[in-house]
Amino acid sequence: MATSTLSIDLDAIQANWRALDRVSASGVQTAAVVKADAYGLGAERVAPALARAGARRFFVAAAEEGAGLRAILGPGPQIAVLSGHMPGDTGLIRDADLTPMLNSVDQATRHLETLPGHAFGVQLDSGMNRLGLEEGEWEAVAPFLLEAGPELLMSHLACADDPAHPLNAEQLETFLRMTEGTGLPRSLAATGGILLGPQYHFDLTRPGIGLYGGLPFAGAAPVVGLGLPVIQTRMVRPGEAVGYSCTWVARKPSLIATAAAGYADGVIRSLSGKATVYAGDVPCPVVGRVSMDLITVDVTHLTAMPAMLELIGPHQSIDTLADAAGTISYEILTRLAGRLTRFYHEAKA
Ligand SMILES: *Cc1c(COP(=O)(O)O)cnc(C)c1O
Repeated sequence: MATSTLSIDLDAIQANWRALDRVSASGVQTAAVVKADAYGLGAERVAPALARAGARRFFVAAAEEGAGLRAILGPGPQIAVLSGHMPGDTGLIRDADLTPMLNSVDQATRHLETLPGHAFGVQLDSGMNRLGLEEGEWEAVAPFLLEAGPELLMSHLACADDPAHPLNAEQLETFLRMTEGTGLPRSLAATGGILLGPQYHFDLTRPGIGLYGGLPFAGAAPVVGLGLPVIQTRMVRPGEAVGYSCTWVARKPSLIATAAAGYADGVIRSLSGKATVYAGDVPCPVVGRVSMDLITVDVTHLTAMPAMLELIGPHQSIDTLADAAGTISYEILTRLAGRLTRFYHEAKA
């Protein structure tokens, strides 16, 4: 078999959801963010596992994702759409019973005109300047939007992964000012915000990356493993180059293993010459360019050649790999591609 194996531990995802749920008080609801196919791990398996753990509210980015998720989860759980109500979304929102988080006066008008009486929330911009009504707009439309009965007022923190960042407290203050006296359920915290403390929790939290084992939830159980089968090994003489553009040249006789995963699988090309893979406990450097389907690894120092090399697993977390690639674990996860053979672990009840 020349495809790499991606193992996804659904028990660990459930444990992470419960652990993040325990961080906030019992009156605070913990949702689950499953946008981008549950951060690349497969909403079809991940979302039902989260529902079994106790999640009752799910967030996706787009109405199309919401409709797919409704087919997976069936009626019951609330599915909130972070991009709100876009032109062309009305049928999906109605038929899949989605709850758009309205981001602008345009969206509010569209929603109340096309689907009067249909559930919605409102996203407020408290300082990230990405999505949501700004303070002045909100003041202008709040009377008629509040009259229509939003289920949730929410906002999103720009710097919650850095507890010392002054914008956290500023956004908290702005969100409080924009929502006080409404008496409506409120939500501000994603994974990072949950860890900032109880004043950030409000009525509902929205963890994503922490469920999937990523920072800033340092206490997360690891979720993902990625093992690469070795297709062949060869001796390379001093002066010979390995891979595209000859970026790595052997200085001594070297044993090079070619393993079956490349940038088309999510082993992003910026890992060229930077990543480490593990043969059992032994680290081995990736040498030369990452190609579309393959990487080359210097295994000269190994006493025995394993059938599989570990790229993500007990020896290397998604965050360590992300650091080597100059990115974040979110991008490592969401790039993991459909070609990988997926194994889901879940203890039978
Ligand atoms: C992606 C996202 C989340 C989840 O964030 P994590 O950092 O992955 O926990 C929550 N809320 C909004 C608005 C988001 O866009």
